[in-house]
Amino acid sequence: MTLKYTDISEFPQIIEELQSSFSNNLTKPLNYRKKQLEQLYNLLDENEHEFCEALYNDLHKHKTESLLGEINMIKQDCLDAIKHLDEWASPEYVEVGLAHKLNRCHVRKDPIGLVLIIGAWNYPVNLVLLPLVGAIAAGCTAIIKPSELAMNTANTIEALLPKYLDQKAYKCVNGGEKEMKELLKYKFDHIFFTGSSATGKKIMLAASNYLTPVTLELGGKSPVILDENINFSVAAKRLIWAKSFNSGQTCVAPDYILCSKKAQKALLQEIPKALKDQFGDDIQKSPDYARIINQRHFDRLAKLLEKTKGNIVIGGKIDRGDLFIEPTFVENVHKNDSLMEEEIFGPIFPIVTVDNIEEAIRFINEKECPLSLYPFSNNNNIIKYILDNTRSGGVTVNDCLIHASVPTLPFGGTGTSGMGAYHGRKSFDVFTHERSVLTSPFFSEKLLERRYAPYKESNYNILNWLMFSKPKFANKRNRGEWKIKNIFGVFCIIIVAYVIKKKFIK
Ligand code: NAD
Repeated sequence: MTLKYTDISEFPQIIEELQSSFSNNLTKPLNYRKKQLEQLYNLLDENEHEFCEALYNDLHKHKTESLLGEINMIKQDCLDAIKHLDEWASPEYVEVGLAHKLNRCHVRKDPIGLVLIIGAWNYPVNLVLLPLVGAIAAGCTAIIKPSELAMNTANTIEALLPKYLDQKAYKCVNGGEKEMKELLKYKFDHIFFTGSSATGKKIMLAASNYLTPVTLELGGKSPVILDENINFSVAAKRLIWAKSFNSGQTCVAPDYILCSKKAQKALLQEIPKALKDQFGDDIQKSPDYARIINQRHFDRLAKLLEKTKGNIVIGGKIDRGDLFIEPTFVENVHKNDSLMEEEIFGPIFPIVTVDNIEEAIRFINEKECPLSLYPFSNNNNIIKYILDNTRSGGVTVNDCLIHASVPTLPFGGTGTSGMGAYHGRKSFDVFTHERSVLTSPFFSEKLLERRYAPYKESNYNILNWLMFSKPKFANKRNRGEWKIKNIFGVFCIIIVAYVIKKKFIK
């Protein structure tokens, strides 16, 4: 299988056409957006088999993983966007102070313009089409660029997209680094990127030429913290599932485990059973277990295993010809080990032992900010303590990955794991400019003319009173006079109430 890259000589025409469709308001009517979202749904629904086959050929991904982790998520987002679009896109009228009671103030939800969506190879359908749902819903035109490493999927998307979506508004381009460098010379109104931090930096640099806003969905080392009081049989099943889903090549995959020696022993006792239950006696023969994307990534992972100073306690089997790496647990891993240098992005699970939760928290905080965090504990106070003292893009407590599958939870990183969030309503927000509009009536002039020069203190005092609130705390200027005013106010209310009672209530 080969992937034909888009000729860079076609870029100017593609961009011009999409820019002109946007300026001619082609993509803005809500009915148009809904129709395109229906078409995107149909693209996935009617070609489920083609997509699953492409994903199998790229990653040996099982149909269940392709449907749950990619296709069905996008379809659900399409349905949610169609259902809620009228509400999301409607102007928002805002609360205003006294000075603006005569004005009408609202926020328009304007599409941001022409957007570029660049995806990674590990979820090659999801990472371009899920953000596209948001771009269509928001009323933008878009170019999507699937990863060239998942070439079967990239070919399938390029072949099918024009059959379903309006080509005047949404196009797919294919290419590698050379094509991307060229594409980034053009002006976009937003760049939505999923991939590595190294490429993310290049994207930001290129975007800075036009001050283009970016969303960066990056990776990082997502830790698991195991308390000693948990159900280790359930924890083992969940950890095996999360680390072997797409063979660990998931941005939110649990990267390493932090736990005490006692918890490590309890976990490792349960792992063989969990592995056997899910993948049988010979994992390589299991139809449910994915492969590493290519030899370069296989070699990278094999080298990590070769260089580690830890002990492989479970797994360790690798087969380069088959791009197969068995789920592998490594104990006695220290913070300077090869396995702790960068995101593993494969089915290798290092265990770092710590004496207590505080040490686990210190360990996490000494590293870069993870995309996800997975604390396991039966004690809510411990969970709260961990969350209060760490940072991460998202969290699943007592399980892994699944916060990323809830469309109403914003998905994204923080710090080095990314900027911006999407999924569901948030995807609409990413590609929407909140445009503030104030409409001033002419009849309010008598009040508003107080703002004109020559300035007068009396006018200022009225405007200040109308526009700005007073603090409800003492400082050197008011010396707590607000308290006196409050006491005076309460006193007046009591007097009025007393008079009313005396006069009118017999
Ligand atoms: P990558 O950065 O190598 O490639 C991502 C995309 O960028 C590809 O489409 C590629 O063609 C393009 N690209 C390459 N060079 C470019 C350049 N100079 N300018 C512009 N674009 C360029 O990443 P990858 O190997 O495909 O993905 C792996 C990484 O992605 C991991 O770190 C993983 O954690 C992260 N990831 C994050 C998420 C998330 O949602 N946060 C999801 C999946 C993967």
